[in-house]
Amino acid sequence: MKHDFDVIVVGGGHAGCDAAAAAARMGVRVALVTLQKEAIGVMSCNPAIGGLGKGHLVREIDALDGLMGRVADAAGIQFRLLNRRKGPAVQGPRAQADRGIYRSRMQAEIAAIENLTVVEGEVVDLVQTNGCVCGVILGDGVQVLSQSVVLTTGTFLRGKIHIGDVSYGGGRMGEKSADSLSARFDDFGVSLGRLKTGTPPRLDGRTINWDGLEMQPGDDEATMFSFLNTAPEARQISCGITHTNPQTHEIIQANLERSAMYGGHIDGVGPRYCPSIEDKVVRFADKSSHQIFLEPEGLDDPTIYPNGISTSLPEDVQEQYVRSIVGLENVTILQPGYAIEYDYVDPRNLSPTLELRQAPGLYLAGQINGTTGYEEAAAQGLVAGLNAAAVAKGEDAVTFSRQSSYIGVMIDDLVTRGVTEPYRMFTSRAEFRLSLRVDNADQRLTEFGRKVGCVGDARWEAFSQKLDALTSVKSALTDLSVTPKQAKSSGISVKEDGQRRNGMELLAFPNTSFDDVWSLVPDAGEVDAAISEQISKEALYFSYEQRQASEVAALAKDEDRLIPNEFDYRSLNGLSSEITSKLEKVRPTSLGQAKRIDGMTPAALTLILAHLKREERARAS
Ligand code: FAD
Repeated sequence: MKHDFDVIVVGGGHAGCDAAAAAARMGVRVALVTLQKEAIGVMSCNPAIGGLGKGHLVREIDALDGLMGRVADAAGIQFRLLNRRKGPAVQGPRAQADRGIYRSRMQAEIAAIENLTVVEGEVVDLVQTNGCVCGVILGDGVQVLSQSVVLTTGTFLRGKIHIGDVSYGGGRMGEKSADSLSARFDDFGVSLGRLKTGTPPRLDGRTINWDGLEMQPGDDEATMFSFLNTAPEARQISCGITHTNPQTHEIIQANLERSAMYGGHIDGVGPRYCPSIEDKVVRFADKSSHQIFLEPEGLDDPTIYPNGISTSLPEDVQEQYVRSIVGLENVTILQPGYAIEYDYVDPRNLSPTLELRQAPGLYLAGQINGTTGYEEAAAQGLVAGLNAAAVAKGEDAVTFSRQSSYIGVMIDDLVTRGVTEPYRMFTSRAEFRLSLRVDNADQRLTEFGRKVGCVGDARWEAFSQKLDALTSVKSALTDLSVTPKQAKSSGISVKEDGQRRNGMELLAFPNTSFDDVWSLVPDAGEVDAAISEQISKEALYFSYEQRQASEVAALAKDEDRLIPNEFDYRSLNGLSSEITSKLEKVRPTSLGQAKRIDGMTPAALTLILAHLKREERARAS
């Protein structure tokens, strides 16, 4: 059979762009088929990339030479490192993006890829030969053949938009849904579930009374996503902050039954971590106020994204409650908030390459797999794109482990545990989170990516230079053998225990600066600030990483340990209410079964295991 392309990627959203680019970097001929060319790279909801856990994914995509980090850096109009006061392992880079720049930069990146062709059209069906998926059928009946297909249709499969009691088909506001493909999954014997998500009304910034509102600037020194970038390109802005108040909550309470979500119009389950304002008012009834960030959607765009008030209330109620908020008394709503319900595939039908087990040659990535968020989508796109290309080239599958990346954590969570609500990444999901840091994503993944074939020469050269510098500084430090007295003379306070320490061990002591330790190295030359900072982070985590490894080993060893049916999860300090309620519902009989509950975290399992061991000891004594 003659193939028009090696890989066809369906969908030009976040999963689709990184899938198509990844497949192209592997050297195969790629077609990106999408409903509207000019909608490639559109941010459907919030104009921001990154955050806790999500920022890790973006750094990993970048370490593998993917697009999202570079595009977010170019579009970033406010950069903030979240959890700055906590340790580097749980910090999350975030950038608010100029929506227009993000889209145009993504389109430029896609257009610049030689072996990638963009095709505008709706994919209405898939072509199968001998059970394998090997092409797509477009709305006008044209067949496009390939060796593998990646489906990244986001919220578009039987997408239904809800505003109050009004509902209609749509993939997102202003775009039609894609319904034909859903039926195909029935033929594969794969049932589809329904999930939902929502977005707030968009406001006209020219009608906001900014006087008196608190303003939040970005960080003085921006933390970039890409390892290749050092500073933002775009002008930087501040966001406004305001709050809901008792009057806002009264208006929402009084109209709850008119909300699509509360009026019983929506069956799908929504994202726990991005609740609608209706949800917040009901679930946290004791709170009289919720914070709202007023985020500009672009430098030359008056539209403001009010982060924190997504809704599916009718338009007249949206106007009433928005205008009850300080600063928004006279605001004009440019686009109403809405909820959207869509089909998703149970990701337990996928292999770790994101291939659908029931349909070889077909890979799924992004929101269609039950995740939420641009970053989760792009990271899956990358995995699916690499594998769709590998299969076309007859090469080995490309898989990621939980030990080496958040990408591996996410894929493993999805394909082994499935989802009962939209899945988003958090650092708590990773048992190896002390070693899976944003600062070392390149050291974890770039060499692997080079071997696989998705890391280009420019990145490889930059990374190799950095690695050489890191290795030589690290080896000079580990060669040191310093007595406490010598350390003290250099201004480093360590225990007077007569023990000699190397430079990395000294660096791990609190309040020890790199320069103090480096001054002990004979003939020490100048060290680049980025290199010394990186080595200080590694030294800080060195001993903790060993403890982490033994905790992980203990959990693996105790998988068969039984949990009594009457186990009182509420008595455990530190177990989140989300996990407590899931454990109470499932009542797992063993630690292994508890591990497979969706949303379960390694920290929660460690707490349960410690409690079981305590009880065992108490019984024995
Ligand atoms: P999308 O970005 O949706 O891209 C899908 C692409 O597929 C589009 O380009 C579309 O044109 C194309 N397509 C679809 N069907 C076909 C077809 N048959 N043929 C050809 N092309 C097709 N995420 C959060 O993290 N937090 C939130 O609060 C949040 N709220 C959201 C609110 C709304 C209303 C929406 C719509 C999304 C929201 N999201 C939110 C989700 C976020 O937008 C998605 O997670 C992310 O965009 C998913 O990326 P994707 O690539 O899977 O799909």
